[in-house]
Amino acid sequence: MQKIAQGLKRRNKTIGFVPTMGALHEGHLSLIRQANKENDIIVVSIFVNPIQFGPREDFSCYPRPLKEDRALCLKQKVDLLFYPTANQMYKMGFKTYVEVKDLSNVLCGVKRKGHFRGVATVVCKLFNIVQPDSAYFGQKDAQQAIIIQRMVKDLNIPIRIRLMPTVRQRNGLALSSRNLYLDKQERQDALCLSEALKRAKNLIKSGERNCQIIIKKLRELIESKKTARLEYVSIVDLENLKPMKKIKDKCLIALAVCIGKTRLIDNMVVKPD
Ligand code: AMP
Repeated sequence: MQKIAQGLKRRNKTIGFVPTMGALHEGHLSLIRQANKENDIIVVSIFVNPIQFGPREDFSCYPRPLKEDRALCLKQKVDLLFYPTANQMYKMGFKTYVEVKDLSNVLCGVKRKGHFRGVATVVCKLFNIVQPDSAYFGQKDAQQAIIIQRMVKDLNIPIRIRLMPTVRQRNGLALSSRNLYLDKQERQDALCLSEALKRAKNLIKSGERNCQIIIKKLRELIESKKTARLEYVSIVDLENLKPMKKIKDKCLIALAVCIGKTRLIDNMVVKPD
């Protein structure tokens, strides 16, 4: 892959890169389409990265429908599909990790210890292998995108990070490969994530600025669903992810909820005026 990328660069081709864990859906495809608009060559990677999963998480049962993913990529005119094995990515003796401090141990990082270290490390490796001009990420994983943006700045990585809006079902549910785990009742209850964000937006629109009050209302909404268990709901500064007391400026409202055994996340950026 690295040799191919170097060859493309010598021929002055621009490379757009979409890193994924596969089980591709419209969210991933929206990134691929955008990459296609802005680059000569599109590379998609599919890699279920073992080092970003905790010991009790879903690494082994994460969906891996490679045949369907390949067909979707062909349809979207993806030029190169890069799907290394874990042994190829982490050879014996692997010892180097990328840690983006402070941003990695808040929000999702509280419960998922080491998760963002795994993400930053694999994305850094993929960037070095694929050598893209631009890389495409979804707002759906807002904390991940903020961490990657920080890493690229701090390590002088010459890649443009493009952040694309969250793609949702018509009923509001953010598309996620993990939605495949949900049964009928859970699919219904999973709507509480986007409903809570909508509620927050409306509260802010009607003048509420106190984060504690907003969070309490969202907590109540989520806890009223049978299969839902709230992990966190936070209102944070968009740059440093620090919790806000009063909403003054643009902020990120982020939440993680377990629906049955499936952990889902969602978020929204809100401007007060
Ligand atoms: P994943 O395969 O879950 O690691 O996601 C790969 C990329 O797709 C990440 O940049 C995600 O943020 C992005 N992505 C996942 N779901 C969505 C969605 N519903 N809308 C937009 N982007 C998404």
